[in-house]
Parts: sequence; structure tokens; C-alpha cells
Amino acid sequence: MSEYPEIKLYVGGDWVQTSEKLPILNPATEEEIGRLPVAEQSHMDDALAAAQEGFKVWSQTSPMERARVILKAAQLMRERQEEIARSITLELGKPIRQSRLEVIRGCEFFEWDAAEGQRLYGRVIPSAPGIRYMVVRQPIGNVAAFSPWNFPMSQPARKIAGALASGCSVIIKPAEETPAGAVHIVRAFVDAGLPPGVLNVLFGRPADISSYLIPRDEIRLVAFTGSTVVGRQLTTLASENMTPVLMELGGHAPVIVCDDVDPAVAGVTSAIRKMRNSGQVCTSPTRFFIHEQHHEPFTESFVERVLATKVGDGLDEQTDMGPVAHEGRLAALQNFVDDAVKRGGKLLTGGSRKANKGFFFEPTVLSGVPDDALIMREEPFGPVAVLNPISSLDEGIEKANSVPYGLAAYAFTHSAANVDRLVDGVEAGNLSINTLEASLPETPFGGVKSSGYGREGGDEGLHHYTVVKNVSHSMTIV
Ligand code: NAD
Repeated sequence: MSEYPEIKLYVGGDWVQTSEKLPILNPATEEEIGRLPVAEQSHMDDALAAAQEGFKVWSQTSPMERARVILKAAQLMRERQEEIARSITLELGKPIRQSRLEVIRGCEFFEWDAAEGQRLYGRVIPSAPGIRYMVVRQPIGNVAAFSPWNFPMSQPARKIAGALASGCSVIIKPAEETPAGAVHIVRAFVDAGLPPGVLNVLFGRPADISSYLIPRDEIRLVAFTGSTVVGRQLTTLASENMTPVLMELGGHAPVIVCDDVDPAVAGVTSAIRKMRNSGQVCTSPTRFFIHEQHHEPFTESFVERVLATKVGDGLDEQTDMGPVAHEGRLAALQNFVDDAVKRGGKLLTGGSRKANKGFFFEPTVLSGVPDDALIMREEPFGPVAVLNPISSLDEGIEKANSVPYGLAAYAFTHSAANVDRLVDGVEAGNLSINTLEASLPETPFGGVKSSGYGREGGDEGLHHYTVVKNVSHSMTIV
């Protein structure tokens, strides 16, 4: 209990406690590990006022000085890697080895954005004599950010990094299940000398906070990662004020396995990646479309690797997969599996809750699942994979595109001609060939269709946190 940090709001440079608190559970043991403060309206008003003041200071701080503070905070987080990783594992259940990597990825988001924030160049447009047209990028203002529970440190890190590197202030509401990652980020920024009001953290009931903050004039950008359903609600709220949004929403990643690769190697790689973070990743590969010639050997190696997955408490160094984030996810996953089996899908392994204590779900593999099954239309967001055969690449692309989502998509092939067809044909914001990595600090990440709007990462990501201003300067009054 003692190694889990005390959770408080952080507003205007002060740690703030509230009268109402909710329990924070360890999903591996169901034991209470801390208490979540619930923000009231007065805390939100204070955060809005503080962020206004913070913006005045931070937007007028030189990009190089901003980078210095961000890099110092990232260095402190690297030094505190073990402490932060243990908090993540306690609140989310993720294997400690994955939590350590998450901390480093979060630091990389800060480091890349800190550097790139110094290169938010404008341009000078060729003009007639006596007049200059200048395009400048300026920080957009105060950002309302909402981050989910599946990466308790790197998800808030990504949003805070984009905002601070661009000269914005931010009010972030991290997920109620996993608040410690953001608390560690704030601690590092306090120690790095970030001025008060630039970064503010609220916890509480998500809808109470988003519905109060988003319509306010002080908010100039809404940045959300989470489900498409909630993303739509927040976008509707933002539209009342014409406030721009950055929406990283759900995916339902397809994997097309062509007939020119080693199916056993592709099967093992895919199985390891599928079970990462208990499948609770918006880019998690779920719908596998495997060329019929390779379906059997791919399935064999995939299932064999899944059966070797060591499920347990994430604090155990040997654990490959922890529990799912909260109890509600168990019923949702069971419904996906039962529906698929009822419609004729074959359960190859897993399929139920594992053990009575802790929110563990068995690593699960289904095959021959019909297109109308729920799991072929909605992402399970858990350790469940579907391995279906296809007869051609065209069929694979058609099935990949058959859902309203388009975030990450994957394929295994060594054929340049196949890659060409995939690049042209697959509807997704991110296409990865022969690798199941989809999101890095330096590459733009985001979706098409119902998977969202905008990009995080790369210079595309930082641009969302800026506004473009065109300046026309005539040398004489005309
Ligand atoms: P959920 O939609 O209730 O919650 C997901 C996240 O959204 C939580 O962190 C929550 O705090 C936040 N949220 C919910 N309502 C909100 C509101 N009105 N205003 C602001 N924030 C709000 O669902 P859940 O059962 O916790 O998670 C399941 C689904 O969420 C998954 O199926 C997946 O699609 C989605 N999800 C996506 C990501 C992602 O990285 N894209 C991450 C976590 C969850």
C-alpha cells in the first residue's frame, strides 16, 4: 500500500484534497490500494482560472526554455522508472516488465516533443514589392485533455507533452481507475520547475468534468483518447463552441497474413503482441485474416504460443499477462466470446474468467467466426483473437475494411506488389507490414472513419496544439 502514491488534484501549483473519495482497486487482487479524490465544481473553476494564468506565462516562455523544463522532467521520470512502473502495475495489473517499458515510452514522448516544439516553423510567402505575408504558428491556448486507463503514464504523457511543447497550458483528467501515472508526471514537472497553472490535474466522475470544462470559453482544444461512444459525446459538446477536437478513439485492427510468409513465425509474433497489456490496446490485433494455405500452421503456432502465456499478478517478474482493468470488462469479454460461439465460431482455447479473485480473463482464441458475430464488428479490447481463413488478398482487404473503424492495420508479406495493394486499399490511419508496432513518438498516429480525428506524434501531432496566423504587413498605409 505504501508504495502507491497518495492521489490528489493538482491545481494552480497546489496539491488539493477533496471531501469525496472513491476506492482505487488493484485488479489482480481486488484490494483497495488508494483513494481517488472527486473534483467539485469549485476545483474545476480554480483549474480554469489557473490554466489561464499559466498560459500567459508559458506561451511567453522561449521554446528553448520550455524544452529545458520538459527534458528535465523526462530525465527525472527516467530516474524514477521503477517507482512509476510499480504504481502502474498496482493500479492496472500490467506485467512489471511492460510497465517499465511504458515509462520509457512516456519519457520519449516528452523528449521528442520537447525537441520538435523548437521547430514549429512558420513561413514567408513570396509577395509583391512593399508587402510581406508571414505565416506564424502560435500555441492554441488552454487544452482540456482526457486520457484512458490502458497506459496510465504514457497516455497522459502524450497529451501533456504535445500541449507543453507547443506552449499551451493543460487541464487533464486521467482515468479514474489509474490515476498514479499522471501524479508521477506532475511530481517530475514540479521538481523540474514548471510554473504554476501550466499543468493542472483533475480526477473524479468523467462526465461531470468533461461536461463542465468543454463548453467553457477558456478551453481552446479538447484532446481525448477512449471509446468512440464517449468521443462522439465530447465532440458534440465541443461543437457548441466550435472548439477543435483531437480524438483518438477505438480501433478493431485487422491482420492480413499472405501466402508468401513463414506462418509459424508470423503466428508467434502475433500471439505475443495480441496478449500485450491483456489485449487492452486500441491497436491490438484482433481480426486475423489468414491465407487458407497458411491457416492451419499459423493457427497451430499462435495457439501454442498463447498457451505458454503466463497469466498472473503483474508484480511477478515472470508474468506475461495480467488481469483486465476492471470488473466490467469481464462481462463484456464473456459476451463477445459467447456470441461468437453461439453463431458457429470455434473456441480453440480460453473463453472464460480465470480464477475467482482478480479480474483475470483467459487468453482466448476463436476460429471460423462468422462476419455477423459481435466480435467481428466491435473491438473486444481484451485478450481475445479471431483467426479466420481467406482465399485472396482482395478478400482480406475487403474484410479488413468492413468495420466502421480504421486505426491500426497489419499485414505479413514480403511481396512489394502486395504491399502496394495494401497501401492503396486498407482504410486505416496506420498500416504496419511485418511488424505489429503502430505508434512511436516520431510518427503520426490516429484513425480514419469512426476511429477518430487528428494525429498524435510526429510534427502532425504538435500542429494540433497550434493555430496558424497569417500576417500581412504593408510597408506603407494602403
Ligand atoms: P468507457 O468508455 O466508460 O471509459 C474509457 C475511458 O473514457 C475512461 O478512461 C473514462 O475515464 C473515460 N470517459 C468515459 N466517459 C467519459 C466522459 N463522459 N467524459 C470524459 N471521459 C470519459 O469504457 P471502459 O469500459 O472503461 O473501456 C472500454 C472501452 O473503452 C473499450 O472497448 C475501448 O473501445 C475504449 N478504450 C479505448 C482506449 C484507447 O486507447 N483508444 C483506451 C481505453 C478504453
